[in-house]
Amino acid sequence: GHHCGDQLLVKIGERLRTLVPAGHCIGRLGGDEFVVVLQGIQHREAENLAAKIVKAIAKPVKVARRVCQTTVSIGVAHGPEHGADAAELIKSADIALYARKARGRNGYDVFDAEMAQQLARRRQLEADLGEALKDQKIELAFQPIVSADTRDIVAFEALARWDHPQFGAVPPNVFIPIAETTGLIMDLGRQVLMAACQEALNWPEHIRVSVNASALQFKDREVLFTDIWLALSASGLPAKRLDLEVTESVLIDDAEGMLQLIDELRKMDVSVSLDDFGTGYSSLAYVQNYRFDRIKLDKAFAREIETDRTSRATISALANIATATGSRLVLEGVETEAQARIAAAHGVVEMQGYLFSRPIPASKIPSIIPGKSAQKRVA
Ligand code: C2E
Ligand code: CA
Ligand code: CA
Repeated sequence: GHHCGDQLLVKIGERLRTLVPAGHCIGRLGGDEFVVVLQGIQHREAENLAAKIVKAIAKPVKVARRVCQTTVSIGVAHGPEHGADAAELIKSADIALYARKARGRNGYDVFDAEMAQQLARRRQLEADLGEALKDQKIELAFQPIVSADTRDIVAFEALARWDHPQFGAVPPNVFIPIAETTGLIMDLGRQVLMAACQEALNWPEHIRVSVNASALQFKDREVLFTDIWLALSASGLPAKRLDLEVTESVLIDDAEGMLQLIDELRKMDVSVSLDDFGTGYSSLAYVQNYRFDRIKLDKAFAREIETDRTSRATISALANIATATGSRLVLEGVETEAQARIAAAHGVVEMQGYLFSRPIPASKIPSIIPGKSAQKRVA
């Protein structure tokens, strides 16, 4: 609540006061933003102080009889080279702060000219992404998921693609986070769902479509639920052919809500997969308690599988748990035949990766799915 927040700010202010040498200035800009102005000191000293502040703030604080922990991100700007007056200096410090946050919180960054350029580019991408969504310029690529056993295609994962008129192809790892911070992700997610369901109608009936959903889309489950329902009813795609890929961050944020949503989706016949398993906390509890239809092991497992016994053992163990809880183990990022063979031998039932196919435009799909008569396999 506000009261605790205020107390926390007071405590942080006190900590700053003990760290900043007398004669310099500390202020609160508003909200949870502070500014420290140091005069007549070396650059090194300012940076040392920033490092000290980061360390000090990370120590637990007692507020309202509870112990809280918080972190700080700091942007450092040096005068006069990063700004001739207060406004300019604060602007530069702000840019460095923004860069720091983008790189990961709990630390400091010193302003440099490239940051300003990157920020300008990012601002442009933000604006352009909004336009691209309005004009429905986000396209989908589809990557097959095959049965480990027969190597037949069992699904396609829809992957968003953005061909920027000026910068060319912008990778999803760049524009998805932009969509998330700007709130555009809701719109993007809706368009992807619609287009993916529509496209899947052109494929044989036994082939599913997997759609990635951002954790932010789960913040408002009602909206997500409606979007899914709309995509299905507008396209006429049977719900059982749709699979939603989610990452474990949705569980960390709101496990209870997620459990409910999975239940609701399951009632509808939509399946839910846990994506990128093995990258974050990856608690076994997620696999045991949530009954995902599929657990997708991160690419890192594919890379290690040939050389690392532990990762093979992990895969076997997960495969056993998956079988016991009624879910299926999928490995993504399979690039070599050896990886595919070892994975299959350790209980992986579906695979995805460059070995089978790169993500391809929808127009190329007919050429890789077997016709009604020929049971051709993917090369
Ligand atoms: P992801 O869901 O883990 O998707 C798999 C990524 O691995 C894709 O990258 C794919 O091209 C790549 N990949 C597939 N096979 C191989 C392989 O054998 N080796 C290697 N090294 N990589 C392989 P992509 O298309 O660049 O997508 C990156 C991420 O962007 C996705 O990771 C997903 O998290 C996100 N993303 C893409 N489309 C959407 C979307 O429509 N909505 C949301 N929320 N996120 C999306
Ligand atoms: Ca995915
Ligand atoms: Ca993944």
